[in-house]
Amino acid sequence: MSRKRKQKKESSRRRVILLSGGIDSAYLLSKYHVPFNTICLYVNYGHPSHRQEFRSAVHICSEYRVALSTICTNMDTSKMRIGQQEAGPRVVPARNIVFCALAANHFPNTDIYLGCTKNDFNEYADCRKEFIDSISLLLQTCSGNRVFAPLLEISKEEIIADFSGVNIEDTFSCYEPTKQGKPCGKCNSCIERGLAIDKASSR
Ligand SMILES: [Zn+2]
Repeated sequence: MSRKRKQKKESSRRRVILLSGGIDSAYLLSKYHVPFNTICLYVNYGHPSHRQEFRSAVHICSEYRVALSTICTNMDTSKMRIGQQEAGPRVVPARNIVFCALAANHFPNTDIYLGCTKNDFNEYADCRKEFIDSISLLLQTCSGNRVFAPLLEISKEEIIADFSGVNIEDTFSCYEPTKQGKPCGKCNSCIERGLAIDKASSR
């Protein structure tokens, strides 16, 4: 195949962006969506913040005029339910394997984009380069999908400093919101988000 034809084929591959409604995936969408050739995928896996995250995902997609596909599934989220306003890691085992497999099942032969960042490295094994490379190879073999995580070397602080397109207040990323649907302010997700916003604004 000629280089030009290969480049055209590459650019015409459909992109599936996994969107949680948080800062990282909203930024990923802003940077990596290709008009008319991108779809966002939101997975409701029974997590405590589904209602708030889904509302953000819908808003973000409408701002960028990108179609949103939703899949409901049932995962063990007990590790996310350690009590409102509790700090500590909340890891859902193999979550990104399930997300990528669902994306590949519904959208074979596409490029799947994940919003993993530098901040995820310590707690989330399924946000590391080895995982991304491995699952990309696996899915390429069985369904023609490739997996990309282009924010792996970028910190949340850097993302916030460069954030545009939608308001940060319109994103949502608390693990276990209050009964009123507000961010708890105490979980690791809230803490990390608050620190990154402070650091970015004092740059
Ligand atoms: Zn929280």
